[in-house]
Amino acid sequence: MANVIVVGGGLGGLPTAYEIRHLLPKEHRVTLISEHEQFTFIPGLIRVALDLNPLEEMQLEIEPLLRERGIDWIHGRVTHIDPNQQTISVGGQTMDYDYIALATGASLAFDLLPGLGPDTGYTQSVCTPDHALHAREEWLKYLENPQNPLVVGAMPGAGCFGPAYEFALMADWEMRRRGVRDQVSITYITPEPYPGHLGVGGVKNAEKLTVNLMKKRGVQVIDNAEISAIDSETITLADGQQFPFGYSMILPKFRGSNFLQNVPGLTDETGFIPVTSTYRHPKYESVYALGVSVKLKQPDKTQVPIGLPKSGEMTEAMGIAVAHNIAHELGAFKKRCKPTLEALCFAEFGDTGIAYVAIPVVPDPATGKRRNAYAVQGRWVVWVKAAFERYFMLKMKMGWGVPWFEKLGLRMLFQVYLTEPLSPGTEQELLSA
Ligand SMILES: Cc1cc2nc3c(=O)[nH]c(=O)nc-3n(C[C@H](O)[C@H](O)[C@H](O)COP(=O)(O)OP(=O)(O)OC[C@H]3O[C@@H](n4cnc5c(N)ncnc54)[C@H](O)[C@@H]3O)c2cc1C
Repeated sequence: MANVIVVGGGLGGLPTAYEIRHLLPKEHRVTLISEHEQFTFIPGLIRVALDLNPLEEMQLEIEPLLRERGIDWIHGRVTHIDPNQQTISVGGQTMDYDYIALATGASLAFDLLPGLGPDTGYTQSVCTPDHALHAREEWLKYLENPQNPLVVGAMPGAGCFGPAYEFALMADWEMRRRGVRDQVSITYITPEPYPGHLGVGGVKNAEKLTVNLMKKRGVQVIDNAEISAIDSETITLADGQQFPFGYSMILPKFRGSNFLQNVPGLTDETGFIPVTSTYRHPKYESVYALGVSVKLKQPDKTQVPIGLPKSGEMTEAMGIAVAHNIAHELGAFKKRCKPTLEALCFAEFGDTGIAYVAIPVVPDPATGKRRNAYAVQGRWVVWVKAAFERYFMLKMKMGWGVPWFEKLGLRMLFQVYLTEPLSPGTEQELLSA
């Protein structure tokens, strides 16, 4: 009997635990450990912060979901991992594992700049449920008398830009709906080399559509921007430009989860986990990783450093691959596979949205090219995003990882494949070397 542990009950960890349970015979034990009792659909937190949906609509209690499906549940924060002894520590207890899948997401690097972030600074965040609730409280206060500008953006090194565009343009839309938009200016400040880059350059139409929409909505864009100081009223850039604000939401740079960084050789210097093409750690063979915690290198050279986005769909694909590869190790599945990292990102902006498609996100290292990459705009994107959110919550309730009809839909509608069989001899190839 093997003991398989998944750490992190988020967008990656919960479906991965379902998928592993589905693939492994009953004699193997599957355990999910997470520090929060609820699963949170993170992409929905922008709507929570803008008071468009209650947080409860984006959350599910994890324990009853697992109990019904034969997955053990531990609610607690993992504080230590020993990949040599194959043990982890959670809540004073030390547990053995045969295989571990780390899906611990990001730790948010607010400490890089005084004044940044809602806990000790002056800017809001939408990255966690607590932050989204705090951002909503401040947003509602701001709307009572919005005289000073709204400034939205991302820090140098950030890799996840979609939420910042969504926040800026949905805030614009919401202020128009409330009849207060003409009272304030909106500025979007980003380290991206151009609007619509989103950490993935070379996507056909992405720049044109994004620039046009920002112009149409009257949102000023400052690109190649390096935020260097923040006080209670002003954001300052390295080139000296200053932006006073009445409300500001700035996405931080992400790092890997803190406890991982204490283990020599487990992560890079920012806490992200290097993996081979099976999403297994190159040194510690019992360790697999998926989602935001994985090290993926940004291939573009940009004036201001930026990271590579790890979208929900990329995360799910990594989770399926990890589940299948662990099942393969335990003799329960014939072939190893790898995620394609072909990604689809729906960004909603009120009355319209843009779908950004990158097949795959990481270009072929030999040619520097992708098979296809384009952006399309339309109101339908908003509907698809809303439908996808409901579908995702439903599938988490039903205990589905990534069901066959989801894979079929992605193939038929967008020519996107989530995983592919591993070519023989490539198991040890290091990603992001
Ligand atoms: C505001 C926002 C909006 C987004 N919108 C989109 C979108 O529209 N489309 C899209 O494709 N992607 C979007 N993304 C990206 C998407 O949310 C991520 O790809 C996805 O959440 C990554 O999943 P994950 O499992 O790696 O991390 P998470 O979903 O963050 O889950 C990590 C989990 O691990 C737990 N954890 C961490 N450390 C420990 C520990 N030490 N012990 C126990 N548990 C721990 C955390 O509590 C959390 O439950 C968005 C991201 C953000 C921040």
